[in-house]
Amino acid sequence: MRDAFLEFSPPCLGEEEIANVEDTLRSGWITTGPKVRGFEEELAQVVGAESALATFSATDAMQVGLAVMGVGAGDEVITTPMTFCSTVHVIEHVGAVPVLVDVEPDTLCIDPERIAEAIGPKTKAILPVHLYGHPCDMTEILGLAESHGLLVLEDAAHALPARFQGRPVGSIGDLTAFSFYSTKNITTGEGGMLTGDAELIEKARPWALHGMTRDPLSRYREEGSWYYEVVLPGFKCNMTDIQAAMGHEQLRKLPGFQQRRREVADRYGQALGELPEIEIPIERERCDSAWHIYAIRLRLEQLKIDRAQFIRELAKRRIGSSVHFIPVHIHPYFRDKYGFRPEDFPVTWESYQRLVSVPLHPALNDDDVADVIEAVVDVVTRFRR
Ligand SMILES: *Cc1c(COP(=O)(O)O)cnc(C)c1O
Repeated sequence: MRDAFLEFSPPCLGEEEIANVEDTLRSGWITTGPKVRGFEEELAQVVGAESALATFSATDAMQVGLAVMGVGAGDEVITTPMTFCSTVHVIEHVGAVPVLVDVEPDTLCIDPERIAEAIGPKTKAILPVHLYGHPCDMTEILGLAESHGLLVLEDAAHALPARFQGRPVGSIGDLTAFSFYSTKNITTGEGGMLTGDAELIEKARPWALHGMTRDPLSRYREEGSWYYEVVLPGFKCNMTDIQAAMGHEQLRKLPGFQQRRREVADRYGQALGELPEIEIPIERERCDSAWHIYAIRLRLEQLKIDRAQFIRELAKRRIGSSVHFIPVHIHPYFRDKYGFRPEDFPVTWESYQRLVSVPLHPALNDDDVADVIEAVVDVVTRFRR
């Protein structure tokens, strides 16, 4: 057995990030400035978007996205319970109603057929989540949006760099939100980005900074450099140059990170795919997953232990693991507010009980990967029926 505990998802930072952060600290400009602008342009280019707005988190990027799309009281937004809570919180924060629909059994991404059933007169937007980095079925989703006049805001917290039928996530829907939280595919500690067309992103900009504008056509010119105007009740969720300094270096490393994630996912697939007790994640035809999370599903009827014990057994073998996600609709706030029962979303609920995420990050070396495989095989062999 390995000596050191294998962490589930540590940040992969190096001397480059440290040097660039130091440079920022010494520069005299530490909040939103030239490094944020540069990072916005670089990220937009990587995902094929016209424009990008850096925020303090993906949650903030989604919040700003809904606000600039004009989603508010009286509106409904369709999303999925198989996500992190903040995907749904942002809908509540603009005063709209989240309408949850179930996911597809193979990818656990939102099911377009269920979206179609849920669309009604109050529906304003669809908020698909590219779960684990695998793109949702954007052909179906864009088709529904177009035929019903709906907006599409994508939760791409897991999906840098993912592609759907050759198109990079970030260049598909009206707006897309990325996360640079410490566990994500690239990190700035905390951070996020909203991508979209240039006009919408320019409209979104004041929403991230108190609703302040320094529009050169406004009175600012006449009054002087101290003058600004507040044009809407904006949030305060701008990214700092300290974060962008990290982001710039991380983005340069993204291709290498991604290659390693894919190698590890392939090795897991080869080894764990042979175990009848385990269902491995798939990648659909013409889809490129960002392989953010490697979530296996246990075939519990073939095992003598439940998911919780499976995770404890991995920990005994010094392998960190986790569960993505505890479905939104079973959390007390949403359960009680909307009267959800666990079985209301059968695919989500059934999958949740047997999901285990194993370590998948670029710092894993071949021995680490072998250790994860050995631990999973050992637990399965020991506890199979
Ligand atoms: C991490 C995550 C978020 C939130 O990202 P932050 O940058 O931490 O706000 C949103 N949705 C999903 C699916 C996530 O995993």
